[in-house]
Amino acid sequence: MQVVTLKAKLLSPNKNKREKITRMLETYHQACSWFLTQAEVLNTTSRAKLNRETYRQACELFDLNRGTLQCAMLKALSARRSYLSRKLRGKKASLPKFEKTVPVMVRQDCYSLYQLPSGTWVIKFPVSSGRSQIAVPLATSTYHAKRIRDLVGGSCRQGSMEIWQDKSGEWYVTISLVYETCLNEPGGIIGVDFGIVKLAVLSNNVFFDGRQIRWRKERWADRRRALQQAGRLSRVKKEAGHERRWMRYINHCLSKRIVEIAKAKSAAVALENLLGIRERAKGSKKFNRMMSGWNVRELASFIEYKAALTGVPVIYVDPKETSKTCPKCGNISRYNRKTQGWFKCAGCGYQSDADRVGALNIATRALDALGA
Ligand SMILES: [Zn+2]
Repeated sequence: MQVVTLKAKLLSPNKNKREKITRMLETYHQACSWFLTQAEVLNTTSRAKLNRETYRQACELFDLNRGTLQCAMLKALSARRSYLSRKLRGKKASLPKFEKTVPVMVRQDCYSLYQLPSGTWVIKFPVSSGRSQIAVPLATSTYHAKRIRDLVGGSCRQGSMEIWQDKSGEWYVTISLVYETCLNEPGGIIGVDFGIVKLAVLSNNVFFDGRQIRWRKERWADRRRALQQAGRLSRVKKEAGHERRWMRYINHCLSKRIVEIAKAKSAAVALENLLGIRERAKGSKKFNRMMSGWNVRELASFIEYKAALTGVPVIYVDPKETSKTCPKCGNISRYNRKTQGWFKCAGCGYQSDADRVGALNIATRALDALGA
């Protein structure tokens, strides 16, 4: 296993986002220092002990994502360990202390990278203990592009991430890419997993986020209701037309990108047999309404005809249990999906982004269907 770190600048986050990131940095610094003091008081370097004795209180004290809070604890412990080991070896050691600018570590399952239809890469991460996350575009060079292609090509996976500010006030992220050889991409097939939170995820680790789209559709629905109540029915009809054309445009962009990616890798595209998609999306009434309003079949048909034009084969597979199956050992269990977004196999311990697992399984199934 080899870890490569990728440093990239955040592209001018707006004032609101800057404030949120700054607050997170301050809180993280406080949390690291607090854990360090607690470890000294308890006279321990054991993670289990520190966690047991302090974690609950820490959750109340610090408004941080739980994964990030855990990272602060580990940071404090490692500072204490290295201090003690220096002292033990009779070397000069001053009591550990954290710089105000200590980088905030975000766990690998707590952030995501995705690409906008325009090609810009965006990083999304939590800044507090709540559910909300912020998304900031990244400045990417040719070097970044090469590494991200590795991530896209499935030759590495996402590790943890650090976010920090340099002296001139610019924000940066350092993303760890973990290269390992144990899980190979099913050769020559790109699986596509359709969803709502992410519109589509490809088995080679390309994510198309659906949040902005969902947000816009919700606003439209609100407006339509208001217009309806005001009796402005012709206006309602006109706006419904706008929305349909806009969705069509999004589907065109998405399908074009997906087919381009497959073409570039000389791969086939594997899609879910879409009859199952509504059954899968169980949820609130509101959620179901969004679902019925999104034309997945149109997206699939666009992919199909664009693929046919460029000579990319399309294979349909049964999507049943693709989200619960481990792509490494084949274990099928609902316990493999501990959280909505993260997959961890109860059998072999393999873990990855849940949607990517779905896409990998779709690719594998297509491979099986081909008898390869
Ligand atoms: Zn497994």
